[in-house]
Amino acid sequence: MSEHKHSLEAALERDQRDPLAPLRDRFHVPPSTLYMDGNSLGLLSIGAEESLARVLDSWKQLGVRGWLEADPPWFWYAERLGELVAGLVGAAPDEVVATGTTTMNIHLLVSSFYRPTAGRKKILADALNFPTDIYALRSQLALHGADPERDLILVESRDGRTLDEADIEAQMGDDVALVFLPSVLYRSGQLLDLERLCRAARERSIPLGLDCSHSVGAVSHQLDAWDVDFAVWCGYKYLNGGPGAPAFLYVNRRHFGLGPALAGWFGYAKERQFDLRLDFEPQPDAGGWQVSSPGILGAAPLLGSLEIFAEVGIEVLERKSRELTGYLIELVDARLTKAPYEFAVGTPRDPRRRSGHIALERNEEAYRIGLALRARGVVPDFRPPNLIRLAPVPLYTGFADVWRVVQHLVEIIDGEEHLQYDAKRQAIT
Ligand SMILES: *Cc1c(COP(=O)(O)O)cnc(C)c1O
Repeated sequence: MSEHKHSLEAALERDQRDPLAPLRDRFHVPPSTLYMDGNSLGLLSIGAEESLARVLDSWKQLGVRGWLEADPPWFWYAERLGELVAGLVGAAPDEVVATGTTTMNIHLLVSSFYRPTAGRKKILADALNFPTDIYALRSQLALHGADPERDLILVESRDGRTLDEADIEAQMGDDVALVFLPSVLYRSGQLLDLERLCRAARERSIPLGLDCSHSVGAVSHQLDAWDVDFAVWCGYKYLNGGPGAPAFLYVNRRHFGLGPALAGWFGYAKERQFDLRLDFEPQPDAGGWQVSSPGILGAAPLLGSLEIFAEVGIEVLERKSRELTGYLIELVDARLTKAPYEFAVGTPRDPRRRSGHIALERNEEAYRIGLALRARGVVPDFRPPNLIRLAPVPLYTGFADVWRVVQHLVEIIDGEEHLQYDAKRQAIT
């Protein structure tokens, strides 16, 4: 029974029963590749390719008239993308806009929401966040005359992998002016209890912002229901917008009146933007935080990509994602934990506490094992010193793909294949 449960045949049967399996045909999966890196750069869909081609064609046919006459008009492109993604995150359409990049959007929103006073000037964050978020917070502290070291509280992890929500809550003191946290830890893949953290911050009247780069497009969110103050996320990971695609920002409608701290003409009240007056009148919604002309060519693939999400529904994708990651954990436990394999799963086992990727921990050999995986056509990613991250994205990954990745790992270790690679790391892994 358990033999069959972990067989390739069983995985193939699951794929056959899977109503989402045909979606894979709507993606360009690189030939002979098991792509497990959609948490870093999602794949190109045919829809995204078409929406990009449409923008090029409108430019060709319409020139400047494309701003109003293209479909959709470029003037409202960022808002249209915001509308499409709002449904994925539990927000109203006017609370979300596509703009900038994740780090830029942290700057844009933190400069509005961080209002330090003499007795309340600390920012509360965590020691496991992606470094760029911390660089942005430190420079915002410095810009506001606070101390980038002393006034940044970084909640530490107890086990080096995960955060305990109680530890974060315990640090929400009277001296904290802003809480800024990731929804999902980029290394271990832990999904924080966002509802609980939002409630705790609200009870203490501290504004809370989230970086949802590793969760939007993988799991559902309820930004409005949780009463998050603001959020940012990335367009090129699970949303498949392409390398350097625009990011998104969310502003809870309670704060529309706040207005941007860093103004630019694309944040002007839309109906009067082209009156070109010198006094700034912000658009009274999330769009007010835009600064410059949206990069339509860079944004275009997102339109086609987001249509798939709207069509399938994030709850359906989330369910399959959790089945795939759960299956991966099960296979690792069954086949890869004992000597000589010695892998361990660093991601929480409770499906509600994880997003779309699984962190496989090993020793420092993880880097060379990653190279051996690549040589076999698997695309994982590696995070030093000892992590291989695998993201079985439900849009284009099946159960048999997950089985094959685990089989490759078994064969690599059996044949000591990783030992033939240079242990020195290259720049991008
Ligand atoms: C991917 C990611 C980013 C990306 O930042 P860019 O400014 O868009 O390059 C930032 N923060 C987190 C937590 C991420 O996961």
